[in-house]
Amino acid sequence: MLDLVIRGGTVVTPQGAGAWDVGIQGERIAAIAAPGTLPSEAGRVIDAAGKLVIPGGIDPHVHTHWPIPALGGGFMTSAPPEQVSRAAICGGTTTLVDFAVWEPGMTIARAIDEKEAVWRPGYTDHALHVMLQGAVPPEVIAEIPEAIQAGFPSLKIFTTDVRPIGKGRMIRLGHLWAIMETAAKHGGILAIHAEDDDLVMYMYERLEREGRTDIQHMPLVHSAMSEDISFRRVLRLARYVEGAAVYFVHVSAGAGVEAIAEARGAGLAIYGETLHHYATFTADAYLRPDGVLFHTYPSLKHEEDRQRLWTGLRNGTLSTVATDELCTPRAVKVRSRHVADATGGHVGVETRVPIIYTEGVSKRGMSLERFADVTSTNAAKILGLYPKKGALAPGSDADLVIFDPTVRRALRAEDLHGSDYSAWEGWEVHGWPAAVILRGQVAVESGKLIPGPGNGRRVSGKLAAAIQDGPAV
Ligand SMILES: [Zn+2]
Repeated sequence: MLDLVIRGGTVVTPQGAGAWDVGIQGERIAAIAAPGTLPSEAGRVIDAAGKLVIPGGIDPHVHTHWPIPALGGGFMTSAPPEQVSRAAICGGTTTLVDFAVWEPGMTIARAIDEKEAVWRPGYTDHALHVMLQGAVPPEVIAEIPEAIQAGFPSLKIFTTDVRPIGKGRMIRLGHLWAIMETAAKHGGILAIHAEDDDLVMYMYERLEREGRTDIQHMPLVHSAMSEDISFRRVLRLARYVEGAAVYFVHVSAGAGVEAIAEARGAGLAIYGETLHHYATFTADAYLRPDGVLFHTYPSLKHEEDRQRLWTGLRNGTLSTVATDELCTPRAVKVRSRHVADATGGHVGVETRVPIIYTEGVSKRGMSLERFADVTSTNAAKILGLYPKKGALAPGSDADLVIFDPTVRRALRAEDLHGSDYSAWEGWEVHGWPAAVILRGQVAVESGKLIPGPGNGRRVSGKLAAAIQDGPAV
């Protein structure tokens, strides 16, 4: 007997969207069947008539329990996995990809263990990127194949220190090359925050000198030019490394989209992520009195960039929409308008899927298949979680969202579960999750989280060969 049958919905499967019934046994999808053909006796039947049934969202870029440095010294820590994953599942995301941070003196295995210890309990499943930094010693680079084997195929790299404080993250070209070669040989992919550090740091100094330190000038520091030059430097390097696969995180500028399109056109295994934040706001938001609330690194850009991000999402140049979540209270987010001291990241895991549905499907005519690709499927493929995650297909984990496209509501931070603010305060969404199911268990019903501890687990990744062979998604 099936444990759960979801009947009457429009189901988005790898073969396209259509009228199907979904049968779930235990933690997995047992069948996708023609309407009315599954056995009528089942543990439970949910009627999804008039609703969409989509793969549970996968957010490929989330920071939980993350240190936030302050210009005056010291730091605080962003929200833990429990809080972030609670918000995520309420918004239709069932898997978060967070970071295990390697620090000098550690092994990669210890970095993973330390993050895993923080990840209990979670309301969603999760995977981890391994973040490397600085002049990574050869013995740590030699640990990369073992980490990939253990289910951690993606390595996060910064090509800039991002801010004048908290330096040490930047990985220079030589080390980047060595890490890229090792990853390429052993089935790994680099997740890169690519900006030109010389340009970024020069602009911080120059704006300080000129007394132009207000947040409104951030696009001059974390500029489109910097993104363009750094992307192309990485892309040039990738041409010399057989099997190199690169996933550019938080693409913010039209120039970044263009660089990715050219590389993909040349057959390189290059993938791009943007944020729903960058797809909905521009640098004009910095001018508001609470403008810093809208900042996330690199920076908001301009209307033309925003339009090119949408073009990239629709035509396939960009593969995923993430959040770069860094969940803090509003007071921490808005505490300083100084360009060198702006709190990065934002609170977006709960709004990501509904905002992309609203702005992409409802307003721009994005297909349902493409919507599922950019909010779930492609992240699973690029990070080696597919088809366990990211697919409504027999054998896949029963992670799914019954999404009600008839809902019209204005978003209010007080109704959401992340923090005491939302950048989308007052935005009208066209649709919201009616139910969210994680590995066969109903976690959210009638839009409400079912009380109880989280049921989340870690998922291992293993890249399909196609991901390294060329632009596969
Ligand atoms: Zn990030």
